[in-house]
Amino acid sequence: MKTIPIWQDIKTKDYPRLDRDIETDILIIGGGITGINLLYALKDDKRKITLVEKNKIGMGVTSRSTAKITFLEQNIYTKLKKNFNFNTAYSFYKATKEAITKMVTVIKKEKIECDLEKVDSYFYTLSKLNINEITEEQKILESFGEKVYEVEKLPNNIKVQKGIYVKDTYVFHPLKYVNKLAKISITDNHQIYENTNIYKIEKVDNYFTAYTNNNTIKCNDIVLSCHYPYFLLPFIFPLKCYIEKSYIMACKNQNLLFSAINEQNPIYSYRYYKDYLLTLSSSHNGSFNNNHADNFAKLFASNKDKIAYAWSNNDIMTLDNLPYIGLIKDNMYIATGYNTWGMTSSFIASLLLKDLLQKKYNHYETLFNPKRGITKDKILNMGVSIFSNSFSYLDSKINLRKSYYNCNPYFIKISNEKYGIYIDENKVKHIVKIKCPHLGCNLLFNKIEKTWECPCHGSVFDIDGNCILGPSNYNISVNSN
Ligand SMILES: Cc1cc2nc3c(=O)[nH]c(=O)nc-3n(C[C@H](O)[C@H](O)[C@H](O)COP(=O)(O)OP(=O)(O)OC[C@H]3O[C@@H](n4cnc5c(N)ncnc54)[C@H](O)[C@@H]3O)c2cc1C
Repeated sequence: MKTIPIWQDIKTKDYPRLDRDIETDILIIGGGITGINLLYALKDDKRKITLVEKNKIGMGVTSRSTAKITFLEQNIYTKLKKNFNFNTAYSFYKATKEAITKMVTVIKKEKIECDLEKVDSYFYTLSKLNINEITEEQKILESFGEKVYEVEKLPNNIKVQKGIYVKDTYVFHPLKYVNKLAKISITDNHQIYENTNIYKIEKVDNYFTAYTNNNTIKCNDIVLSCHYPYFLLPFIFPLKCYIEKSYIMACKNQNLLFSAINEQNPIYSYRYYKDYLLTLSSSHNGSFNNNHADNFAKLFASNKDKIAYAWSNNDIMTLDNLPYIGLIKDNMYIATGYNTWGMTSSFIASLLLKDLLQKKYNHYETLFNPKRGITKDKILNMGVSIFSNSFSYLDSKINLRKSYYNCNPYFIKISNEKYGIYIDENKVKHIVKIKCPHLGCNLLFNKIEKTWECPCHGSVFDIDGNCILGPSNYNISVNSN
């Protein structure tokens, strides 16, 4: 079993690290599907555009997803109609459908070999308790004019209590897509730098200065496509979003051309890739319910022989179920909060941000406005999110889960700083600081992937302390500050 995402098991192109001070018109921070879609959308823009990625292009959340390109996003339209109104639900549906059509057009036009396959998307339940959720979503999709098909059995012959499916949706290989798109987006004026971490942004007069460890980037416009909006702490983003963690495994199976979401508790979702079945399950918020992680570990233990790849991933969920895309402040733009559906939402973001950066009208500017407030009925959700994060913080401080780890990793304290020491199969010791550089939670160890993880906001570090998923902008290796 490999504990990496199935998508990361390919060779990808390397880009240089930034090694001098530069000036650029537009700086895009983050080379996931959002940043790369945007760089591509701006291909014909004559201004100087620089994209910086702290690790490697596409290796963040993008290459850890299940990579379905679909507008059947569980019961999103029912939720939006309830949170807002019919028109908002319909606008989101239209934006998503347009994004799918345009994304597939780009893939075909640019001949991007990313294993794109047209599949039907299913939404179903095996339990009588969830029939209503499926029926409500079916009704609202039909009221948009979408053709929805009912089924009694899935293509894998599983009999359902209630099941629907829609056509014209896709699955693909996200890292192959992002890598090829990055390659064709580079021009004399548009550059990509990898291993270039921005840890601070300042605005002086009319310019932003972004700081890497050794260099500065001066720019007019800045786009935060770094998944978690770390730089926006003062704008209460962490209160308007929360992290949801999910686990995925890929097992050998025959290839069936469909993808599906099972509306049950816990909800799980799956798709096929070549001769693998990818199953996602057990979403949970931080360590508030650590049982999910434990259950996952048990599931792995019992399926060890069948599992070819296993990994986990973080989603950013917004309190009102709509992403945050647009201008946040003085020439600073953001695209985040995709609520588990970033393949399509990142494409919506690229079209919207392109128009905003080029001072053009975009029909969806108001819908995704990142400065929108929290509706009254979401204040309770905000309270739950704050409580859950505070609980995770305190829990991480009190409970180091020593018995769960069975002495590997173990902990030591030197000059008031706590360190975790993991001993690998070759008896090599890996030592890290276990305090998250983001907001100071104690990190938990993920025994499957051998990573250190923040239970509050989802930062993930490898066994040597290198940050592989944000919001932390710093490492936890022993020699890091
Ligand atoms: C388990 C799971 C399954 C999913 N499945 C699907 C699916 O089937 N379909 C779907 O539509 N969506 C899916 N999603 C959601 C989707 O994967 C994400 O919403 C999307 O990939 C986010 O893309 P991104 O570019 O915003 O983030 P990322 O891919 O994380 O890119 C952000 C990049 O910014 C870089 N970065 C961060 N901070 C800095 C900094 N300070 N300086 C420089 N660079 C920085 C990071 O290294 C990273 O590479 C899934 C999500 C999860 C968790």
